[in-house]
Amino acid sequence: MTDYRAIRGMVDILPDTSAAWQRVERVASAVLHSYGYSEIRLPIIESTHLFARSIGEVTDIVEKEMYTFTDRSDNSLSLRPEGTAGCVRAAVQHNLIATPQKLWYTGPMFRYERPQKGRQRQFHQLGVEAFGVSTPDLDAELLLLCRALWQQLGVADALTLELNSIGSPEARANYRQALVTYLSPHREQLDADSQRRLETNPLRILDSKDPHTQALLAEAPVMVDYLDDDARADFQQLQALLDAAGQPYRINHRLVRGLDYYNKTVFEWTTSALGAQGTVCGGGRYDGLVAQFGGKDTPGAGFAIGLERLVLLLQSLAEEPPATADVYVVTADEAAQRHALPRIESLRRAMPQLRIQCHLGGGSFKSQFKRADKSGAAVALIYGASEVAAQQVTLKPLRQGTGVDQQTLSDADLCGSLQQALSINSQD
Ligand code: ATP
Ligand code: MG
Repeated sequence: MTDYRAIRGMVDILPDTSAAWQRVERVASAVLHSYGYSEIRLPIIESTHLFARSIGEVTDIVEKEMYTFTDRSDNSLSLRPEGTAGCVRAAVQHNLIATPQKLWYTGPMFRYERPQKGRQRQFHQLGVEAFGVSTPDLDAELLLLCRALWQQLGVADALTLELNSIGSPEARANYRQALVTYLSPHREQLDADSQRRLETNPLRILDSKDPHTQALLAEAPVMVDYLDDDARADFQQLQALLDAAGQPYRINHRLVRGLDYYNKTVFEWTTSALGAQGTVCGGGRYDGLVAQFGGKDTPGAGFAIGLERLVLLLQSLAEEPPATADVYVVTADEAAQRHALPRIESLRRAMPQLRIQCHLGGGSFKSQFKRADKSGAAVALIYGASEVAAQQVTLKPLRQGTGVDQQTLSDADLCGSLQQALSINSQD
């Protein structure tokens, strides 16, 4: 075994999973396009204070999860732990938000956490940020965009939408006070982290997984009773829009996000299919953030999808391992291979969406068919001696549910028959 191994928490995406990643990326970029969002590409490194300021000094991310280092000019820089801060920075710097702006980005993020299933130190997010709209129709659009993505990927039934409103900063401060007043007499019963948070970031206690803390929280005051009128009205309007769009949700009074910049709507899409790391997407409104970065006071809202978790979810729902081919080409001998080669080149040009694998390396029909089966291809194309002599090809279905029976065709009919045979497999 080699001494060189990937750094703990940094994960190689291997060929058996990269197809799922490409599918997610392809479908996401099409869905985002259809909602009128534009891609922005951002640096992976930013000034440390950018994150400390926006995410919050007393959050897990800034206190203990950032990869921070000093460069050769003594600047403190950090690998981005999330994308919103950099996106807002860029939007302000390039004056993108003079008019409403709808942006998305994707790429690696870095957090020094304990690696486990669905939790890595380098992971990937797809983030969406929209600026310049303060009304909850934007919040609804963001949620419906998520739903469209889940539907197209076939994971909608596995995901639940959880919603909360955390109100204005003033309402939140009042609630924070009420929570501290309620919890302080029970201080000793709280887990160690929550005791510390009682002073630094009490709202995060709502997130505690500790059963004693959870039990105490059952009777705790809830944020919704402290909402300001504006946030309350927006929250109701958002719910009405979701009801009208037929999107169910669960109001979760304990839902607070781990980043300080949120206000009003916060949400998560969760699944029970992935164990402890069940949050696939999280987001909300951040109306104060642009001004915090020196821009003109501009409302905003967005979310980030954890792509590792989304890919794990896709895989957990897939019945079969992913195919590496749609069509597998089998040839009798070298002469048949010479006959087939130019024809398959034309076929690839004519049907570029198909994954066509030619058997390479020779061998008996039997061994070639074994490979064809392993590839997951839906059909085999066979060039035997008789096909070559007659300028034909045999199309043989390899899977149930293929739209055609085995048939021998002229070259000219091949495209049409393949289309018919594979139509069931070409939704995206
Ligand atoms: P968690 O509670 O699971 O730590 P979070 O609240 O820290 O999540 P966000 O900062 O909101 O997460 O990031 C949005 C999404 O990014 C999460 O819902 C999750 O899907 C994903 N994510 C966050 N941290 C990691 C990680 N270390 N590894 C893999 N995915 C992650
Ligand atoms: Mg986290």
